[in-house]
Amino acid sequence: MTWWDDEDVFAQLRNQIAGNEPFSFIDGPVTANKELGVHTAWGRTLKDVFQRYKAMRGFDLRFQNGFDCQGLWIEVKVEQELGLNSKQDIEEYGLENFANKCRDKVAWSVEELTRGSKRLGNWMDWGNDYLTFSDTNIEYIWRFLKTLDARGWLYKGHRATEWCPRCGTSISQHEITMSGVYQERADPSLFVRLPISERPGESLVVWTTTPWTLPANVAAAVHPELDYGLRPNGEWVAVEIYPDDDFTETRPGRELVGWHYEGPFDDLEPGGATDHVVIPWKDVTLDQGTGIVHIAPGCGTEDFELAGEHGLAVLTPVDESGRFYSDYGWLAGLTTAEVRQKVIDDLEVRGRLVEATEYVHSYPHCWRCDTPLIFRIADDWYIDVSEIRPQLLEANSGIDWTPAYMGKLMNDWLNNMDDWNISRSRFYGLPLPFYPCECGEVTIIGSKRELEEKATSGLDQLQELHRPWVDKVKVRCDHCGRTDLTRVTEVGDVWLDAGIVPFSSLGWQNDEWIEGGYATGAAVGLSNADLPDNTYWEKWFPADWVTEMREQVRLWFYSQLFMSVALVGKAPFRSVLGYEKMLAEDGREMHGSWGNLVIAEEAFEKMGADVMRWMFCAHPPDRNLLFGYEGAHEVQRKLLTLWNSVRFLVDYGNIEGFEPNYSDLHGGPDGVELREIDRWLLGRASQTVENATEALDRWRVDELIEDFKDYLDDLSNWYIRRNRRRFYNFDEAAFRTLWVGTVTALRIIAPTMPFLTEHLWNILVAGPCDEAPRSIHLAGWAAPPIEIDHALLTEMAVTRRVVEAGRRARSEANIKLRQPLSKAIVRGGDLARNHSEDIKNELRVHELVFDEETTVEVTIKPNFPVVGPRLGSKMKDVAAAFASGDYEETGDGTVLAAGVELAQHEVVRTERVTLEGWAAAHDGDISVAIDPTLDDDLIQEGRALELIRRLNEQRKQEGFDVTDRIALRLPAEHSDLLGTHQDWIAAEVLAVLIEVDPDLDAPSIEVVPER
Ligand SMILES: [Zn+2]
Ligand SMILES: [Zn+2]
Repeated sequence: MTWWDDEDVFAQLRNQIAGNEPFSFIDGPVTANKELGVHTAWGRTLKDVFQRYKAMRGFDLRFQNGFDCQGLWIEVKVEQELGLNSKQDIEEYGLENFANKCRDKVAWSVEELTRGSKRLGNWMDWGNDYLTFSDTNIEYIWRFLKTLDARGWLYKGHRATEWCPRCGTSISQHEITMSGVYQERADPSLFVRLPISERPGESLVVWTTTPWTLPANVAAAVHPELDYGLRPNGEWVAVEIYPDDDFTETRPGRELVGWHYEGPFDDLEPGGATDHVVIPWKDVTLDQGTGIVHIAPGCGTEDFELAGEHGLAVLTPVDESGRFYSDYGWLAGLTTAEVRQKVIDDLEVRGRLVEATEYVHSYPHCWRCDTPLIFRIADDWYIDVSEIRPQLLEANSGIDWTPAYMGKLMNDWLNNMDDWNISRSRFYGLPLPFYPCECGEVTIIGSKRELEEKATSGLDQLQELHRPWVDKVKVRCDHCGRTDLTRVTEVGDVWLDAGIVPFSSLGWQNDEWIEGGYATGAAVGLSNADLPDNTYWEKWFPADWVTEMREQVRLWFYSQLFMSVALVGKAPFRSVLGYEKMLAEDGREMHGSWGNLVIAEEAFEKMGADVMRWMFCAHPPDRNLLFGYEGAHEVQRKLLTLWNSVRFLVDYGNIEGFEPNYSDLHGGPDGVELREIDRWLLGRASQTVENATEALDRWRVDELIEDFKDYLDDLSNWYIRRNRRRFYNFDEAAFRTLWVGTVTALRIIAPTMPFLTEHLWNILVAGPCDEAPRSIHLAGWAAPPIEIDHALLTEMAVTRRVVEAGRRARSEANIKLRQPLSKAIVRGGDLARNHSEDIKNELRVHELVFDEETTVEVTIKPNFPVVGPRLGSKMKDVAAAFASGDYEETGDGTVLAAGVELAQHEVVRTERVTLEGWAAAHDGDISVAIDPTLDDDLIQEGRALELIRRLNEQRKQEGFDVTDRIALRLPAEHSDLLGTHQDWIAAEVLAVLIEVDPDLDAPSIEVVPER
C-alpha cells in the first residue's frame, strides 16, 4: 500500500483512463458515525472490485466516495456519547452545541472510514468525497421539494404513524423494512370484557397485545357476515373460533352493529366522555383473538381510517415521548411500558379481565435506538405518490437487476407504498424549507439564494443550513406581506439526503463549474469536492451501475429512483447489483446494540484485507453471508496453492536462469515447440479469462472465484504435477507456459485481491520484464493468451475425472497411492484414451484398458424425488423407458430417455463390480475399476517408491539444493531393491552413487561436489 502511495499508482491509473468512454458508478453513501465495520467492508469490496475491473477494461471512472452525514444515525451516536436520553435533554444541552458535536462526530468518522477503506484496498478519490450535509446537497433537496410543491404533491397529513417514543419522531414505512427492525418480543395477551349497555349481563370480549391502547378505545369491530355467539356466561365471541363452545344465541355480526358498550376505562376522562359503539369491518380475521376487534383510532393506522369512515372520536393518549397526557388520571405521566401491569391489574380488580397470558411475536423496533415502536397520531409532511407511481414502475422495468428478484421486490414496493412521510421531529438533519403563514399560504424555499432574498432577519448568523441557525432566519410571505414567517421545526427523512446525490454531486442544472463548490456549509474543511456543471451531469447521468445491500431496495435505491423520476423523468441507474444480509457466524443479525458487530480493523488483523475481500467476492449475492474466521482458513488454503505454484516457478526459474517475455501474455509463447499439455494449460487460461470477463459483465464475481479455483487446481494439481520433470532440466516451453498460465491467473484475480496480486506481479513480471507496467493494476484486463482448442480441453477434463475416480477406487480398496497396481479398467471415459499414459502414471497402474472388458455393471434410474416435480405426468414414460433399458448416455453425464434429457443429478447410478475382488468408483457416467491384488513384484516396486519419497524428504530436511547430486548409502534391508529399481531410484533422487552399508539403520545421503 505504501508502494502504491509512493508511486502514485492510482493517479497513474486515472491518467491512463482519463477521457475514455465513461463508466458511471455512483457510490451509495456510508453513514459517517462509526469506524469501518465488516458489513460495510463487504459493499466497499464489491464496489472496488468492479471499479478496478472497469478501469482495467479502459473505461474512465469518477471514483467519488460518499458519506451520509446527518439525520438520526448521527444524532444517536452523539446522544450516547453525551449521555442524553431524550429530546428534552438535547434542548437543554443546546441545539448549537449539539449540532457542533454532530459535525465533530462526522469529521472523526470520515477519517476512520477513509483509513479503514484504504486499508481494505478501496481505490477512491479520497478527499473529494460528497458529504450529504453540505449546504449544496441541502439546496438540491430544497429545489426538489419546491418542484414537487408546484405540482401539488406536497401536503401536511394528520394520521397514525409508527412512532419511536425515545426519539420522539415518526418512522416512515420504508424505515420499518430495514433489517433488525422486527424482533421477537413477548407482550401481554389480554382478553377483556366490555359490558353491553342495551343487554344487561352480556359483554363483548376483545383481545389485545397492547394494554396501553385500551384507555383510548372507542369502538369494537365485528365482521358483518360472520356468526357471533353468546356463551352461557354472557360473553359474545365469534362462533368459528370456538366451535366446541355452547352458545345460547347466535347472530350474524351485522346484527351486533350499533350496540353500545362500556369502555374499558370510562373512569378516565377521555374514555368516559366517549360513546362506545360496535362497528362493521370486513377486515376482521379469525386467526387470532375473539373475532371482535378493539379499535383505538389514536393508536393504529387501520383504526384511524375506521374512525374517519364511521365518525369516531380519535383519542391520542400519549405525547411524543410516549407518556400519557395529564387528562388520563392515574396513568398521567407514565410511559406505555410503565402502564402495562397497572392496566392489567385494574381490569382484574374490576372483573373485566377474562384472561391474561403472554404472546410472543415479531414486533417493530426503532432502527436507531432499538426502542419498541408505538402507533401515534401525528402531523407530518408527506409526498403524494399517486401520480408518480406508474412512472416509477415504468422506470424500474428498464433497470437491469442482479439478482433479478430484487427488481421484483422494487416492483412490489412501488405497487404497495403509501405516501412518503418526509418529516422527522428531530434536530440535526435536512431543514425542511417550509414556512407556513397565518394567511394559510406555505412558502417553500427552493435555494439559499431564495432564502436570502426572502429573509427579513437572521441572515447574519446563518453559518450553515442546519438547526438552530436556519431556524433563526425569518422570511416574508409574498401572499400577504407578513415578515415574520418561521420555518417548521421538522427535519427531513435521511433518504432525501442520499437520494439527491445523482443530481447534487454531478452538478445538475449548474451553469458554471465551481471548484470546491460542493463542499459548502458543514462540509467545509472535510472535502474539496467540486460542484461540476450541467455538461458534466449529462455525461455521467444516469449511472451505469450501483450496488448496495438488499434492504436499500426500499431505501436508497427507492429514494434515488423517486427523486430522479420526479426531476427528470428517468431512472438514475441502468443496472444494480443487490446482495443479501451479513449475519454473525451463528446466524444472528449483526446489530450495534447486540455487541456483535465486527470492526473491520479486527478482521484485517486476523485474516488480512485480501482474504476478507476474497470471502466477500466468493459469496453469492442471493444468500446471507455468515461472517466468521472459519471461512478465512479455506481461502488461505487456496491462496497457499497459488503461492506454492508461484514459488515453484520462481525457484526453478531462478535455478535454470529462466527469463520471461512480456509479449508471451498476448498470443502465447512463440518460437518454442509447445506440447499438447502446454496448449491445454494456455487454452484453460484463455477459457478462464473468457469466463471471468463474462461473469464480471454480469456482476457475478462469485462465479469468477469458482472458476478461478478450478483453474488453479488445473494449474497446480495437473499441469505442474504432470510436468515436474520438465522443470528439473530446463524445458523452455514448460517454463514459458507456466509463466503465462500463472500470470494470467493473477490478472483475473487482481481486482479481488489487489495486494497479493500486486506483490506477485512484481516478482513474476515487473521485476524481470522491462517493458511491463510496474503495477498489475496498470496492465489492463487480460486477453486470452491463445485460441482455445475445445476438444483438447474436453479430453483433459475427462482425463482428470478418470484419474479422480481411479483414486477413489484405490482408497475404497484401502490401497495407498504409492503402491503400484497391475490393472485398471475404464468405462465411459473414451475421450481420455489419448491420455492413457498420464492416467497410468497418476493411478500407478501397469495396464489400462478402456471398455474392452465388462467389469462393472451400471444401472441407471431416474432420481425420482429430484426429477419428478420437473417432469410431472411425463415421468411415467421416462420411468418406463428406464425400466426397459431404453435410454441413452450422451457422454457428458446427461441421459436421454423417452425424449427427455436428464441432468447428471437427476439420475441415480448404481454399479456392481462383476470381477471377483475388484474395486470401483464412478463420476457420473465414468467408472474406473482396479484390480487390488498385489504380487511380490508390485510390493517391491511400492517399496522402491516409498524409499524415493523418504529420500526426497530427507534431501529437503537436510537443506540440499534441488539440483545437488548425492551419494546414497542404504541399510541392508533395501538391498533387494537395487536389482530392478536401481537406475530409477538414482534418477529420482539425483544419486550419482548408490551402495549398501550393512552397518546403517537408516539411509544416509551426502552432496557430491560437481566437477
Ligand atoms: Zn428511537
Ligand atoms: Zn401570508
